[in-house]
Amino acid sequence: MSKIAVVGASLAGLRAAEALRREGFEGRLALIGDEPHLPYTRPPLSKEMLSKEWDEQSVALTTMPDLEGIDIDVRLGSAAQSLDVEGRSVTLADGTAVDFEGLVIATGARARSLPNTDQLDGVLTLRGLDDARRIREAFDSRPDRVVVCGAGFIGAEVAASARAAGLEVTMVEMAPVPFERILGPRLGEMLADLQIQHGVDLRTGVGIERIEGDGRAERVILMDGSSIPTDLVVVGIGVTPNTDWLEGSGLHIEDGVVCDATCAAAPGIVAAGDVARWPNEMFGGELMRVEHWENAVQQAAHAAATLLAGDGGGSPFAPVPWFWSDQFDLTIQLAGRTRADDEVVILEGPTDDGALVALFGRQERLVGVFGINRARQVMQHRRLISEGIGWDEALSLARSAESK
Ligand SMILES: Cc1cc2nc3c(=O)[nH]c(=O)nc-3n(C[C@H](O)[C@H](O)[C@H](O)COP(=O)(O)OP(=O)(O)OC[C@H]3O[C@@H](n4cnc5c(N)ncnc54)[C@H](O)[C@@H]3O)c2cc1C
Repeated sequence: MSKIAVVGASLAGLRAAEALRREGFEGRLALIGDEPHLPYTRPPLSKEMLSKEWDEQSVALTTMPDLEGIDIDVRLGSAAQSLDVEGRSVTLADGTAVDFEGLVIATGARARSLPNTDQLDGVLTLRGLDDARRIREAFDSRPDRVVVCGAGFIGAEVAASARAAGLEVTMVEMAPVPFERILGPRLGEMLADLQIQHGVDLRTGVGIERIEGDGRAERVILMDGSSIPTDLVVVGIGVTPNTDWLEGSGLHIEDGVVCDATCAAAPGIVAAGDVARWPNEMFGGELMRVEHWENAVQQAAHAAATLLAGDGGGSPFAPVPWFWSDQFDLTIQLAGRTRADDEVVILEGPTDDGALVALFGRQERLVGVFGINRARQVMQHRRLISEGIGWDEALSLARSAESK
């Protein structure tokens, strides 16, 4: 292989390009991104960037000299518009074409917005650096109240950052209990209480009907008819994988780029990060798309290895997904693949300072671990999940460790 193109110049794209060089690929390597920025890391955008502990330089993942040092042809500010699989070429928005023998798709995902809000100022989403800058500026303008739409991890972190900035916050969540879908009702309630204890006015089980205002958000109307006056709405209602440019390419697109277990989407084409959906053999081949930072890093390296191994030469990518979220003074972590109907056993907590460890079991297997300020226990159980430990064995091991 003498030419590889990587589309998406963020975490997964950068890490894939670096891995290709590390693994000895010496041919032409192009890194194509639609943003004007060099690759940067996103988790601080809802945390340290909003609380002003970090500035824009702190989120950079690399520098131009570093990229030039490993001979990467970086093309920023130019979106890939279409892919010709047979002709082995990607066409960019500026009309140029980049031909390749191998392709890494790492175009991630974009934030979903509320319908009919495009024309309203003061309604923002958070995915990129420019979004974080806009939200930070909006915080600085001291809005009377911030309405956060969606109590998922991004919404919860934005609410925490807004409270830390001394702002009044109302968070609106359609589900009766936040995080119930992945954590079940009990742990979901605990995370909801965390927001309430920190002064967030949490409204659950109700959706947003519309946002009203004359050119700018003035009030949010909920489906129960209530109205919340506001001059800033931050919408955190999930993401859509960036696959529009692959329409008509012949690749299998269904909530992401569908790959095989090795991350290959077609001969000589791999995908990684938030855009990739693949059967994870660690969880019985469940087709999953994982929107976590660490997954983007690991899957990028794996996809690069698959590409270099040649058709059929790759090995399955079978991780135990893991992520963290910082809210107020707590670090929340979840490892595994959890569902609302899993059996949940709380091993410890919540302690006075909010720490907690809970295990998730399904079909006689340990499938997940949830921790608040308990990184070591989360990592220990994550390893046990990867070893395929049974549910009863995991519980008795945890209880005997507790009694020591
Ligand atoms: C605010 C925020 C906070 C987060 N916090 C956490 C956290 O605490 N813990 C955690 O585990 N994860 C967190 N995440 C998730 C984590 O950041 C993502 O999983 C990670 O960024 C995925 O990397 P990626 O490279 O696959 O996708 P992305 O980071 O989305 O990058 C994709 C890149 O491709 C570009 N692109 C899209 N379409 C095209 C195109 N057609 N042509 C060229 N370029 C294109 C995009 O603009 C983008 O630059 C957070 C995410 C956000 C947004």
